[in-house]
Amino acid sequence: MQVNIPLKQTVDNSYDITIDTIKKVHFDKKVAIVTNPKVAGLHLAYFLSKISAKELYIITVPDGEEYKNQDSVDLILESLFNHRFNRKSMLIAFGGGVIGDMTGYTASIYQRGIDFVQVPTTLLSQVDASVGGKTGINNSYGKNLIGAFHQPKAVYIDPHFLSTLPKREFGAGVAEIIKMAVTFNRNFFDFLETADLHDKEVLQEAIKQAVQTKADVVAKDEKEHGLRAALNYGHTFGHVIENETKYKTYLHGEAVAIGMVMANEVAVAMNLMIPQEAQRVKELLQKYDLPTSYTIEDVNSFYETFFLDKKSLDASVTFILPVGIGGVKITDEVDKELILSVLRKFGN
Ligand code: NAD
Ligand code: MG
Repeated sequence: MQVNIPLKQTVDNSYDITIDTIKKVHFDKKVAIVTNPKVAGLHLAYFLSKISAKELYIITVPDGEEYKNQDSVDLILESLFNHRFNRKSMLIAFGGGVIGDMTGYTASIYQRGIDFVQVPTTLLSQVDASVGGKTGINNSYGKNLIGAFHQPKAVYIDPHFLSTLPKREFGAGVAEIIKMAVTFNRNFFDFLETADLHDKEVLQEAIKQAVQTKADVVAKDEKEHGLRAALNYGHTFGHVIENETKYKTYLHGEAVAIGMVMANEVAVAMNLMIPQEAQRVKELLQKYDLPTSYTIEDVNSFYETFFLDKKSLDASVTFILPVGIGGVKITDEVDKELILSVLRKFGN
């Protein structure tokens, strides 16, 4: 299965995303695989049986979102300089979204930018993070505040890696799949309702559809001037939930699941969606054991936290609201009182 992203702005930026068992591939150049100990322990041997290069190095960084920072980037850069990587050399991101974002960002700055390839190993990174060229790291001011748009040369999505993924991590990826279906593709949503993503072939089809959906959006709006923001459906609320729970209670995809339920309530209140459709989304999330409820202790403080989100410009918050199932509206003109009344439904 293959998906192509034809990026309008810069023609030579288009690349292929292959969703299949990785075929043997040789790169006639210096290549560094950037990974972490967990992914390396589980899957590096398999990956190395598929890939070879003129010179091949493995760079390992610590596992975890807390290491998606400048220190890890420095560690990777140091290794590249030590091994005398040049502008023709290449990086391969081998891991989840953390490795993908960080490797892509390092590739974007090393000698003003070198090629990189994404080999995502979590469901979330296969359907979302590895596609679209957003790269970056976190700092003390927040998540992904330092970064660059740097498109990979290719993305190899091998569902084989998912066999070792913990159940909750799998669910977090499913949440992002559901996100794409609700906002962009009603047929895909119908398919997901009847499908069982634990079936390998069904999962591969769902990954393909999610990637195709994201690729279409990115091709239309690479730098997020408009439409691409729709991929943040569920995230406006989800970020507040992650913030309130200090990133400890929920995985990102889980917080987004609750966030989608909240956004749907707003959509229902604005007559953009009927309650039955909101219920269908909730039930689909629950089918994958994703959380769909959350107790808001203080609605005003929850509302204020919207403004900490970097994606909110000055005093306006952008809401991504589904229009039925398969449509989306991006707006920063939602009445504060309406939001508060929806938030109160989640109150004690
Ligand atoms: P992650 O990279 O932290 O991976 C989750 C955990 O699973 C890690 O411990 C990882 O080592 C482990 N893991 C990876 N592959 C595994 C496998 N096959 N089997 C078992 N364990 C495995 O998290 P994630 O959910 O993949 O990605 C989240 C990150 O992606 C965030 O930093 C987020 O900002 C970023 N992201 C970026 C974009 C984008 O467009 N660039 C989009 C969405 C998310
Ligand atoms: Mg997300």
